[in-house]
Amino acid sequence: MRLDLTTLFLMTVAVTFTAGVLFLLSWSQTRRERSLAVWGIAHLVGSLASLMLALRDQIPDSLSIGLANALMIGAYGLIWSGVRAFEGRRLRLGWALAGGTVWLVACLIPPFYGSLVARVVLASTLAGLYCASGGLMIWRGRGEPLVSRYPALVLLASYAVLYWIRVPLAFALPLPASVAIASPWFAILCFTGTLYSVAIAFVFMALTKERAEREQRLAAETDALTGIANRRALVAGAERHLAVAPAALLLFDLDRFKAINDRYGHSVGDAVLAAFCTIAAPLLPPEAVFGRMGGEEFACLLPRLDERAAARVGERVRAAVAGFDHPDYPDLAMRVSVGVAAESQIGGSLDYLLRRADDALYRAKHAGRDRVVTAGDDPLLRAEAEPDAVALSTVHTVRSVTR
Ligand code: GH3
Ligand code: MG
Ligand code: MG
Repeated sequence: MRLDLTTLFLMTVAVTFTAGVLFLLSWSQTRRERSLAVWGIAHLVGSLASLMLALRDQIPDSLSIGLANALMIGAYGLIWSGVRAFEGRRLRLGWALAGGTVWLVACLIPPFYGSLVARVVLASTLAGLYCASGGLMIWRGRGEPLVSRYPALVLLASYAVLYWIRVPLAFALPLPASVAIASPWFAILCFTGTLYSVAIAFVFMALTKERAEREQRLAAETDALTGIANRRALVAGAERHLAVAPAALLLFDLDRFKAINDRYGHSVGDAVLAAFCTIAAPLLPPEAVFGRMGGEEFACLLPRLDERAAARVGERVRAAVAGFDHPDYPDLAMRVSVGVAAESQIGGSLDYLLRRADDALYRAKHAGRDRVVTAGDDPLLRAEAEPDAVALSTVHTVRSVTR
């Protein structure tokens, strides 16, 4: 099969242009994701570069070689810049356009401009650098678990490799400038360029969609005030654990919280709720499922702990909460009562566990509050060791959900 070079170039122009327009349309619906706009512009610049390359011999060489390649390198710079925006970093447009500028300056040097090998080496090095840096950034951002990161990484890395392979090849198989346009290099590059445009558009759109879906899912599972799991997520997480392991449940209820609201105002009350989570979350084991049941009530499922071990965790939290100091309101005292119940069997009922923990909590309140009571035995459990006092510099800190 013969591939006509002009047709290939025009196809690249059309496909890259369409991808650019789709990116911009997508950005117009979700303005918050700036990367979509940058990737859109990158594709439009890339399509203009392809058009100018396609017009080789019909427009001056300074445009079809000098400017076209500068634009192409600039397009890769913008792809890189878009990845930065996607990862929440500054765009660094200066750096994005630096590669194209270096190219233009180099083209002003006649020995460079006259050498096809030198041009291939510089253009490929620069384009490859942008692709590799973009891939590296996608890899570094893997803390945000998005499946589409991996195809994006493969795509950017393979394109960097494809460009960099051209550097030794340019030395190994030097081509006279006059036949370069007709060489298979151009056809291969053009063909892969088209595939790359389509693939990158598809994968980057998938990345932004996946992020939006993840954010929506997290928002639906998170309590807006405290940043920990809401009741629905807590119940779902607790039931998942109970199905596979024995577990204990802590039920926390802040003591005389209404009085805090009445005396200091609702917003201070809100800050106290957030502070409770900030204090409690680091004291819980990593696999604990901690969430807000509603109002000033919180619960924590502790997989594989028995009642006694769970009560010790509850006591640590109670003691730390009792040591809480508000810098602006020295008289403000936060106290918490804790009910504890445990399920020693796999597949226990969360409802039953909650009922028993609630009953223990009720007894804690009636026994005078600020204590941990277990469902299994009536005696109150106090810490054997002196609890650490927790002095927060601010109570406005909202810790992100610990799950
Ligand atoms: P007890 O020691 O018996 O638990 O007394 P309490 O005052 O803590 O309990 P009560 O149920 O009487 O009051 C709970 C208060 O919590 C009443 C409600 O206004 C307040 N509250 C519920 N949700 C929020 C919230 O999101 N923010 C604030 N600031 N207050 C809330
Ligand atoms: Mg309550
Ligand atoms: Mg209360």
